[in-house]
Amino acid sequence: DSAAADRRVDSICPYCGVGCQLTYHVKDEQILFVEGRNGPSNQGRLCVKGRFGFDYPGHPARLTRPLIRRPGVPKGLDPDFDPARPLTHFREASWEEALDLAARGLVELKATQGPDALAGFGSAKCSNEEAWLFQKLVRVGFGSNHVDHCTRLCHASSVAALMECLGSGAVTASFMQALQAEVVILTGCNPAVNHPVAATYFKQAARNGTKLIILDPRGQALDAYAWRSLRFSPGGDVALFNAMLNVIIGEGLYDPAYIDAHTEGFAALKAGVVDMTPEAMSPLCGVAPEAIREVARAYAGAERAMIFWGMGISQHVHGTDNARCLISLALACGHTGRPGTGLHPLRGQNNVQGASDAGLIPMVLPDYQPVGDAQLRAAFEALWGTELAPDPGLTVVEIMDAILAGQIRGMYILGENPAMSDPDLNHARAALAALEHLVVQDLFVTETAQFADVILPAAAWSEKTGTVTNTNRQVQLGRAALAPPGEAKPDWWIIQQMARRFGLGWDYAHPREVFAEMKRGMHSLDHITWERLEREGSVTYPCPADDAPGQDVVFADAFPRAGGRARFSPTRPLPPDEPVDAAYPVVLTTGRLLEHWHTGAMTRRSRVLDEREPEAAAFLAPAELGRLGVAPGGAVRIATRRGAITLTARVDPGMPEGMVFVPFAFVEAAANLLTNPALDPDGKIPEFKYAACRLSPA
Ligand code: SF4
Repeated sequence: DSAAADRRVDSICPYCGVGCQLTYHVKDEQILFVEGRNGPSNQGRLCVKGRFGFDYPGHPARLTRPLIRRPGVPKGLDPDFDPARPLTHFREASWEEALDLAARGLVELKATQGPDALAGFGSAKCSNEEAWLFQKLVRVGFGSNHVDHCTRLCHASSVAALMECLGSGAVTASFMQALQAEVVILTGCNPAVNHPVAATYFKQAARNGTKLIILDPRGQALDAYAWRSLRFSPGGDVALFNAMLNVIIGEGLYDPAYIDAHTEGFAALKAGVVDMTPEAMSPLCGVAPEAIREVARAYAGAERAMIFWGMGISQHVHGTDNARCLISLALACGHTGRPGTGLHPLRGQNNVQGASDAGLIPMVLPDYQPVGDAQLRAAFEALWGTELAPDPGLTVVEIMDAILAGQIRGMYILGENPAMSDPDLNHARAALAALEHLVVQDLFVTETAQFADVILPAAAWSEKTGTVTNTNRQVQLGRAALAPPGEAKPDWWIIQQMARRFGLGWDYAHPREVFAEMKRGMHSLDHITWERLEREGSVTYPCPADDAPGQDVVFADAFPRAGGRARFSPTRPLPPDEPVDAAYPVVLTTGRLLEHWHTGAMTRRSRVLDEREPEAAAFLAPAELGRLGVAPGGAVRIATRRGAITLTARVDPGMPEGMVFVPFAFVEAAANLLTNPALDPDGKIPEFKYAACRLSPA
């Protein structure tokens, strides 16, 4: 109980992009329990991860000293790796020795091979200040733009479409605006699992009379609250959305005054969708024409309507086209810029919005300023006192290919786990093993750290202070509740030590000094100060004045594009990269579980969460299991052209026949051994949501 705690420390949940505010109750340097606070995105609510997933920093396998690979030990996943056993592949080292070795390997590669031989993956799990410092180190110290992070595996395609069509990659309205909408479309997302506190507001909206429309191949808990729930065929999304546009335009349900005042390119959209009638698209998307008409009319006819989407939309080779369609729907109907309207890609990680804003992206500097624009680049060159590379860098999956092609030879990976999260893991792991020098900074010897030359022990989120930005564009302050164990250090401190070894005279004494520098380079942070965050806890950007609340809904008057107009971008349906066939007849899709976050590095080391979901499982329709002859709880083998895994079969009545869902958190049955690395041409995001597979009893 709270009376037992020595102190209470206010911070932010470290898991999803909802960004729930919470209070740690601490006693004897341990978190006793966690309580929800009255934050703008959670109003006291927390989900099971926020409430129970706080003990991973105290796991016995936590790194407390830097580690150096022993000579002659081959790089790769140790099949007998057991965090409870003494380390055999690595030895402990002092910070001085580890940092010298970590930096020297990269500095030497830069000197002999050039700046393009180095790359860095930053983390959407670190603070804004740490993201800023990391991309600055890569751009200024390494001298390249080869810096990326998990946005590439998450919403890169959504951001590409939003930048192209609206001129801004962030949401146009917070999810709280759903409470004021007449119609809310949720598509390619499963908020009850992945954004559970946001889901409570969708339920609340539905109870208050909002028509919830769910468009997804898979059934979900929120179906019980939906006005209509349409199951489209996997990969049939572009066909479905274009059919909706065909109805809205064909029946004159669009908003001509809004289109005239705020957009360009409507004529091309109109011409582009003319043949994509519900009857023509129904065979492609698997939804009856009348059902398409009904939801299109409901969305267009509403006075206020919103669209939310997740990785079911973005993680396709046509992910950018999917987002272009959703944007076209909103623009055609005038559903942006007012309360209860908007476009909202639900962000995954707690700081993927902030890390992207802070410049952990290879083609843009902070605040999405293209690296190729000499004038914009000059502003950062003046701020950092050095010339910057003008060419866009490589993205996450491209970097893996560039390693195997001999171009990238050294990497610094901070808080990311590509040995679990990249598509086609055999390929990604071969690339990590091929690196001449790899530095990994993390809390544990993750799967990726097992490939490292040097492992640097970092502080966990509850052990450091910094800002994060959630899916609603709310910049929030997290505070350290515990001291890091042993010699573990905050990421910003470690990055600074690495930078000094690149000859950079960095001397930041506290994250607030980094934040002050960020404000000089990022107008999105105008009128948001560290002091204000300490006082108010959260400020939404953009914010018009020092004493004003930030803008929950943006683009009432103009879009941040030349001329102030948003742009329609027409699309055509495309097949998945690897359609099912006779040899591989089932669609594999991957994702998260309520209890397990991404690659499991944190949640599988959280006692309650791991006890609730202790084993790797595949989720299948009852009929699919029957066909296989596997009983629930039995073992099923899943094979694709890239690999095979065996795991426990679970019945999921929400799964369509001909499809299997596998979470990617379990190393013992790593879903990404199976996934397809084919990329969306614009967002460069892999097609995690569709691969052809074959099932058999195991
Ligand atoms: Fe944390 Fe997201 Fe759950 Fe909130 S909804 S407690 S931010 S995981």
